Amino acid sequence: MNPAAGERVAVIGAGFGGLAAAVRLQAAGIPTLLLERRERPGGRAYVYEDQGFVFDAGPTVITAPDCIEELYQLAGRPMSDYLEFIQLDPMYRLSWEDGYQLDYTADLERMDAQIAARNPRDVEGYHRFLEYSEAVFQEGYVKLAATPFLDIWSMVRAAPQLARLQSWRSVYSMVSKYIQDPQLRQAFSYHTLLVGGNPFSASSIYALIHALERRWGVLFARGGTGALVRALAKLFTDLGGELRTNCPVDRIETRNGRVTAIVTGDGERLPARAVVSNADVVHTYQSLLRDEPGLDGMRRTLLKKRYSMSLFVVYFGLRRQHPELAHHTILFGPRYRELLDDIFERGLLADDFSLYLHAPSVTDPGLAPPGCSSYYALAPVPNFARSRIDWDEAAPRFRDRVLDYVERRCIPGLRADLVTSRMFTPQDFETELNAYQGSAFSLQPTLTQSAWFRVHNRDAKIGGLYFVGAGTHPGAGVPGVVNSAKATAGLVLHDLGVA
Ligand SMILES: Cc1cc2nc3c(=O)[nH]c(=O)nc-3n(C[C@H](O)[C@H](O)[C@H](O)COP(=O)(O)OP(=O)(O)OC[C@H]3O[C@@H](n4cnc5c(N)ncnc54)[C@H](O)[C@@H]3O)c2cc1C
Repeated sequence: MNPAAGERVAVIGAGFGGLAAAVRLQAAGIPTLLLERRERPGGRAYVYEDQGFVFDAGPTVITAPDCIEELYQLAGRPMSDYLEFIQLDPMYRLSWEDGYQLDYTADLERMDAQIAARNPRDVEGYHRFLEYSEAVFQEGYVKLAATPFLDIWSMVRAAPQLARLQSWRSVYSMVSKYIQDPQLRQAFSYHTLLVGGNPFSASSIYALIHALERRWGVLFARGGTGALVRALAKLFTDLGGELRTNCPVDRIETRNGRVTAIVTGDGERLPARAVVSNADVVHTYQSLLRDEPGLDGMRRTLLKKRYSMSLFVVYFGLRRQHPELAHHTILFGPRYRELLDDIFERGLLADDFSLYLHAPSVTDPGLAPPGCSSYYALAPVPNFARSRIDWDEAAPRFRDRVLDYVERRCIPGLRADLVTSRMFTPQDFETELNAYQGSAFSLQPTLTQSAWFRVHNRDAKIGGLYFVGAGTHPGAGVPGVVNSAKATAGLVLHDLGVA
């Protein structure tokens, strides 16, 4: 019999990281209790429904399906019984104000033709960039994404490869080494924003996203990302796991340097052999472990780190369909570096913006009433580190500007066709998700905040305390947090003596 059977593990937070960790533990025979403060699982991948429109709140670009499929394999269940993935082509449509447009696809011939039409000399550079991306993918993703960095030696061991791949350089600088055209440089560097990084300061390791997208494509779960969340939650409960929603955890209880229980918001004490926190890392150390004096140093260290930008999202439903749109569109604004400086360095809410537009009804009309379509438009905006924007006051005007811009750029008649809209602001990241500084992706993915420099998957001081999700290794994004679950669950199982 499994030595740890009967010893419950509690997972705080049902984001993708918490769900994946809970599935792994439960599949290994550990009774697992998953506690979520909101009324449904998903975390940043929440779902809003309104008048028949379904809006995925957060992640929409689903990549690296292998790490999700692995969860079903571990559980001995076919993934196809739970969900269906659809490949998207193009993966993204990139569009600039001067009318230039690039359909970013995994089809190399089509990419070459589009790049050649823009700047023939960049075709060869693009191929060399892809070789570089593949090399970082092998080191950064295949070898290290699910490997916990618990001591400095793990970092020292990885250092030669990281140095060889010039990981101290930024993604933008690396892209610029290979690509000349200014707009193509934007096209191949903006990806770090998807994991909360400024392309001008995020480590070039994150150029691996290109190789990752080319390998498995960009996917969409039929029914939306919400369907993927439901599929993971169902897998967990089918395995016998216990999911409690509407259940905020108030604190983690410890005795003699070990976790012993969690205490819920209404005072219920739930003993646990180990606790895996998927909640924001600062919230966990500052609030859930507030009575733990030995963690003051950790708290100070965390407050000095740099957190990702926040996001402003407008979800909207239209009474018309727009099949001419791509599923994912990036609308580049007039400024690139300067806008990113405003967001990441100066803390300014600029007059211009670059947007990501999600148009899921193009792929799955079932996400809106017949003849209608659902969308979201997302603008990266400053977090609360450098400025405290009053979003109650700023949000309605900002929403109007975003909708007007989308109408001008790619959805004529948007305002006239509007049936419903809602917003999510940095303030909501702070209050709804306990996100420090209203950050959308936790710690920024810079070299000095990656791997060993990130919050470790297992706390060094408190026995039985683990982390999963965007703040720990390897970092934000769905593949990142699902891989963090592999690293973390491996540690929990090892420490509980489960093979
Ligand atoms: C708008 C948006 C778009 C994005 N787009 C993409 C994309 O296209 N592709 C991609 O790969 N990534 C994307 N990301 C990033 C990705 O969504 C996140 O990095 C990832 O989902 C974070 O997962 P997580 O496991 O860290 O947990 P989170 O999603 O942060 O969930 C943590 C959970 O913990 C809960 N919690 C917090 N405190 C407590 C407490 N005290 N008690 C109980 N529960 C608590 C929260 O309610 C939440 O449900 C996007 C993010 C956002 C915000």
